[in-house]
Amino acid sequence: MKRLVLFLCIFSVFLFSGCAKQEKKLSTLEKIKKEGKITVGVKVDSKPFGYEQNGELKGFDIDLAHLIAKKITKKLEPEVEFVKLASNDRIFALNSGEVDMVIATMSITPQRNVLVNFSRPYYVAGQALMVKRKSKIKDISDLNGKTTGIVLSSTGESTIIRLAPDTKIKGAKTYTEAFSLLKTGEIDALLADDTILYGLINGSKRYKILPRRYTQEYYAIAVRKEDKDLQHVLDRAVRLLGDSGELNLLKKKWMK
Ligand code: GLU
Repeated sequence: MKRLVLFLCIFSVFLFSGCAKQEKKLSTLEKIKKEGKITVGVKVDSKPFGYEQNGELKGFDIDLAHLIAKKITKKLEPEVEFVKLASNDRIFALNSGEVDMVIATMSITPQRNVLVNFSRPYYVAGQALMVKRKSKIKDISDLNGKTTGIVLSSTGESTIIRLAPDTKIKGAKTYTEAFSLLKTGEIDALLADDTILYGLINGSKRYKILPRRYTQEYYAIAVRKEDKDLQHVLDRAVRLLGDSGELNLLKKKWMK
C-alpha cells in the first residue's frame, strides 16, 4: 500500500509539472515583437554588403537589417544583434535557432528553398569572373585546365560545376581567403557575385572583373520554414522599403 501511495505521489508530480510546461511557445515573430529585438545572421567578408571596419559592422545588409528591425518592432531604436556567418554557415545558423533571419548576400535557389523560406528579393546581382590584370582568361570557357576559386556552399560552387566542368576547383571558406588565393596565384580565376568582387577589387588596377555575367542572383531574407508569419511580414517590409525609395537609397549609398 505504501508503495502504491508513493508511486501515485511521484506520478502526480510528473503529471502536473507536464501541465505547467504546456504554455504555448512563441513564434519567432511574436518573440521579436515581445523583446523588441532581432538577431540577424550577416557576412563580414562581403563588402559592400557586409564587412567590419574598426570593429563596427557596415554595409548594405547591415543597414537593411536596421530598417527591417524598425519595421517589425515599430520601435525607433530597436535592438539588432548581429551574428557573423560564412556562406557555408547560413542555413545551419538559421535552422538551429541561432539567428531569427539571415540577411547575407543570400540568393534564392530551389535547393535552398527546400530548407528555408525567402522574402521577396531586395537586390539582383550577377556572377562574374575576376582574374589578374594580365591574365589571358576572357571567359568561363577558358578555364579548362586552370584552377578556379569559389566560396564553399555559395551559388558560385554550383555555377562552376555546371558551366566549367573541366576546371580544377578550389574552395575557400570566405571571400577574403578566396581573394588571397588569387593574389598568390593558387587560383587563376575567382567566380563570385559581381557585388562582392567589386568590394574585393576596391579600385585596384592589378585585377579585373570580366564583363560577362553568368547568373542572376536574387538576394532575399531567409527565415525558418515554420516562420510563415515572419516571412509574410518581411515580404511586406521589403515591398514597402522598395516603394518608399529606401532600397534605392541603400543602392546609391553602397554601390557607387
Ligand atoms: N549570392 C551567392 C550565394 O548566396 C554568393 C554570395 C555569398 O556566398 O554570400 O551563395
